[in-house]
Amino acid sequence: MSDFPADTFADVLAGNASYVESFSASDLGGRALQGLAIVTCMDSRIEPLALVGMKKGDAKILRNAGARVTDDVLRTLVLAAYLLGVERVLVMPHTDCKMASATEEQIHDRIRADYGVETSSVEFRTVEDQTAALAYDVRRIRAYPLLPRDLVVAGAVYDVRSGALVPQDV
Ligand SMILES: [Zn+2]
Repeated sequence: MSDFPADTFADVLAGNASYVESFSASDLGGRALQGLAIVTCMDSRIEPLALVGMKKGDAKILRNAGARVTDDVLRTLVLAAYLLGVERVLVMPHTDCKMASATEEQIHDRIRADYGVETSSVEFRTVEDQTAALAYDVRRIRAYPLLPRDLVVAGAVYDVRSGALVPQDV
């Protein structure tokens, strides 16, 4: 066991201290009040709730590199659909995504060159064609046999420059 690295996280803890001061306790439960789950990227420019006009308690947010539908996303959606009130899923990749700007091999090469680490045992799931990848991911959720048949699954691309959500036909 090692001590909590308080120096490295000093801003985090200070930020939380002021958050607690203005925090108003609510009786929110764990269910998504708007029945929505958003699968999006870890990109720090994305504010998933704010960009769809929602707030704490309204939606489940699943994030990873590239907004890809992985086995873990499917696992989480099963729980969200049956236990947490999710009835609709929006898969939401974004413009200017790092995961769509290089190939799998290029990212492995870059990390190897810069850090001397061999990462080829990791599948990054880079995206060559964002539209095609989004369609694949939306259909993967729709086809997943353990999810409710009436779960509504859609795709849209978030534009990090304008803030606009652009719906896609999938
Ligand atoms: Zn991204």
